[in-house]
Amino acid sequence: MADYLISGGTGYVPEDGLSAQQLFSIGDGLTYNDFLILPGFIDFTSDEVDLTSALTRKITLKTPLISSPMDTVTESAMAIAMALMGGIGIIHHNCTPEFQANEVRKVKVLRFEQGFITDPVVMSPRQTVGDVFEAKVRHGFSGIPVTETGKMGSKLVGIVTSRDIDFLSEKDRGKPLEEAMTKREELVVAPAGVTLKEANDILQRSKKGKLPIVNNNDELVAIIARTDLKKNRDYPLASKDSRKQLLCGAAIGTREDDKYRLDLLVQAGVDVVVLDSSQGNSVYQINMINYIKQKYPELQVVGGNVVTAAQAKNLIDAGVDALRVGMGCGSICITQEVMACGRPQGTSVYKVAEYARRFGVPVIADGGIQTVGHVVKALSLGASTVMMGSLLAATTEAPGEYFFSDGVRLKKYRGMGSLDAMEKSTSSQKRYFSEGDNVKVAQGVSGSVQDKGSIHKFVPYLIAGIQHGCQDIGAKSLSVLRSMMYSGELKFEKRTMSAQVEGGVHGLHSYEKRLY
Ligand code: IMP
Repeated sequence: MADYLISGGTGYVPEDGLSAQQLFSIGDGLTYNDFLILPGFIDFTSDEVDLTSALTRKITLKTPLISSPMDTVTESAMAIAMALMGGIGIIHHNCTPEFQANEVRKVKVLRFEQGFITDPVVMSPRQTVGDVFEAKVRHGFSGIPVTETGKMGSKLVGIVTSRDIDFLSEKDRGKPLEEAMTKREELVVAPAGVTLKEANDILQRSKKGKLPIVNNNDELVAIIARTDLKKNRDYPLASKDSRKQLLCGAAIGTREDDKYRLDLLVQAGVDVVVLDSSQGNSVYQINMINYIKQKYPELQVVGGNVVTAAQAKNLIDAGVDALRVGMGCGSICITQEVMACGRPQGTSVYKVAEYARRFGVPVIADGGIQTVGHVVKALSLGASTVMMGSLLAATTEAPGEYFFSDGVRLKKYRGMGSLDAMEKSTSSQKRYFSEGDNVKVAQGVSGSVQDKGSIHKFVPYLIAGIQHGCQDIGAKSLSVLRSMMYSGELKFEKRTMSAQVEGGVHGLHSYEKRLY
């Protein structure tokens, strides 16, 4: 953009600001608050800014946002909401392998394509209302086609919808579905061979929730669902795999028993596993990467956490598909205080991303994100995506109940290395290497965060904020942003303490800060 101004007629414009390389050559570790980005030239509207970015070597997201694998941040509700918004959630592992795999399954069973579902859950008329209740818990829905054998390709005999079972209770559990379902005669169906458009029209006209597609013998070959039509309309950015299922990630450790956890997660359909360690440059992690790459070559593996190129090198050599960057920058984190190790996050992201890009390995900037401006800064330093804990905690979709303290509505938010979390199970002890220790050394704290409402309101605010930031910079996409940074066109400036004060609200007697 500087070229435009220089060639614009008034001639020479003096060099101004620092390239990223210059900014980080000083040697001081910098955090997001320690610098600003100088504005560029705008010739597009903010909603044109394309936020598509790589999560891993093989997975691309339309929204570069990830929810942290923490037990107060990401279970299935968060992962579904994040994927619908174009990001992804990483299910935490401070729970049994079975619980975690089931959370992944709840995300993966949802398909958000306006298309035919060819392998839905199907039941037989001899199965019971209790089976439907269980399926509802397991898969989070209850519109289930019923065929003679309980399989696809068998004669359609009915459908069980929520209307059929809503008023039934525990005492009805044993009732066979043939007595509870809506029978074949009452169903609107479409013939096999129908086009997607025709099937959608029939569904819309029939005002039903599900449309079974049957062949000449009245055997069930597919269904389409009204919720899919609606969701596809409402969530154009949704992150989906090739089978149109929502993307989902999960965290695991690097111990022997994590291999069992891994198997369950893969069976549940997980798309990416995150090796969850505060210091990822270890022989344990390298061995685990080798193991996964050999057993599940298609599964995407995120290694970390790292904050130096030397750490990154070992994990890249071992074959990771992305790196998670950050040590000691998390809002709940006391790692730097206790372990004396870590690095300010701006420097970590720049140094690791600058190294990893040579090998095509994307970087996740993990932790320390307090504002949407921090997201823009992380992306401008070379991160491909950003992982957040506290910013997404206390949303409706985060696990846990709201409570009030001094009239403020809060949800609990805790570090996975806090004593509170480590006492819950052994998985988070493993992340912090204190499993067998007699004395536990906490690396995190436990606290609370103020209610933020739903992810469905909050993430659109983050998306719009990032787009505005990119617009001010003059970058119409995240790939343009990155190439501007590496070419030196993107200019930064360090912020003194008083500049930071000036950049915040100041000099007011009182004010209200409403962000969206
Ligand atoms: P936040 O977004 O600043 O709240 O940071 C979230 C990140 O902090 C997570 O994604 C983890 O990388 C990291 N983290 C989670 N629990 C702990 C802990 O107990 N100690 C240190 N870091 C943690």
